[in-house]
Amino acid sequence: MSKDPTFRILGDAPSRSERYSDYRKEWDRRESALDAADHPVHVDIETAAVCDLRCGSSEDDPKGFCQVWTHEHLRTRDFGLQTGPPGYMDPILFGRLIQQCADIGVSSIKLNYRGEASLHPRIVDFVRAAAELGFPDVMLNTNGNGRARQQPDLFARIVEAGITDLMFSVDACDSATYRRQRVGGDWDVLLRSVRSAVDARGRGLGAPDCRIRASVVRTNLNAADIASGRMESFWKDEMGVDWMSVSECYFPAGKDHHWKAAHWVRMTAAEFQCPDPFRRMVVTWDGRHTMPCCQGFTLEIDGGPVVPTETTPVQNLRAIWLSPNFARLREAHRNRTWDDPRHGERICRACAVTQRPIRIEDSSLTNATIAPSAVVDQETARGQ
Ligand code: SF4
Ligand code: SF4
Repeated sequence: MSKDPTFRILGDAPSRSERYSDYRKEWDRRESALDAADHPVHVDIETAAVCDLRCGSSEDDPKGFCQVWTHEHLRTRDFGLQTGPPGYMDPILFGRLIQQCADIGVSSIKLNYRGEASLHPRIVDFVRAAAELGFPDVMLNTNGNGRARQQPDLFARIVEAGITDLMFSVDACDSATYRRQRVGGDWDVLLRSVRSAVDARGRGLGAPDCRIRASVVRTNLNAADIASGRMESFWKDEMGVDWMSVSECYFPAGKDHHWKAAHWVRMTAAEFQCPDPFRRMVVTWDGRHTMPCCQGFTLEIDGGPVVPTETTPVQNLRAIWLSPNFARLREAHRNRTWDDPRHGERICRACAVTQRPIRIEDSSLTNATIAPSAVVDQETARGQ
């Protein structure tokens, strides 16, 4: 078993209830035992695969650095053939999925994968429905803009609805840096969203385990602010979030791109076994694809649909968790064969998680040239 080398916490993680801690023990046990049991600990439900931002974009690189916009599946799929508005999960499918999750013993639900889930018109209802089913953890990554542009109290209502892990992707501690990295985002809306969530939680309106995190994708734009402690001080001391996390900007991993703040060293299977396929899975917004980890953006490892179609029988989450494709990926890590060029897993060889970042000294980043390129929506992906 191996820890994800691309993710770390700044400072300490907040304290939690015994019930929450128990589920985290099972999360850790899956990693140490490489045991998938008969259900995932955590499920990412992609409630909306659309976004109001274009992070990292420029005139030369209009899609920016986010895989929501570069992902082949979303580029090629005809959204018009799907149920409901393009890219938004049908509430009936959502209800069916979380009920299944509750029935099979899932402990943690995240209401996003790629995209900005706060754009879903039913997002508050989704949080409430998940909370009412009693999951110890109901999570959401957000850019803090989305529908909050029109609804200033949106994140207060999300807190009141029972979210336990609310994670704002901030990337900056000043408006100028924010505008450059989080293209299209409104700094003032982000601050208003964080304040309203922190305030609602402070007034005791949230769940007992509600914690609010600011997350940062570390690039050469913000590395100095992270190293100096300015980033942590702003978000914790001034804005009142409970904790902070940092993900290294890794995509295209190891390439020479303008956000680069680390060198990348590819690991071998002798060095790394991925724990994710033993404890988590993803369901895409249309319910037609499932993945046994959060990095399988290319859908190479697909357990199959979770809704009935004309051509496939009805499947359920447990059946998918036990599917041959998911089992194959686990075996590749358990047996340390994922890096085999012929019989291994291409998806793992290309994955950022199998590469170790070596942070470039912050002093050498200060004069870095900024030019167009491409990365990934990784803050939604890592750190569960
Ligand atoms: S990184 Fe997140 S906020 Fe930025 S464009 Fe992608 S989904 Fe939207
Ligand atoms: S693609 Fe492979 S290495 Fe990457 S998260 Fe999934 S299982 Fe782990």
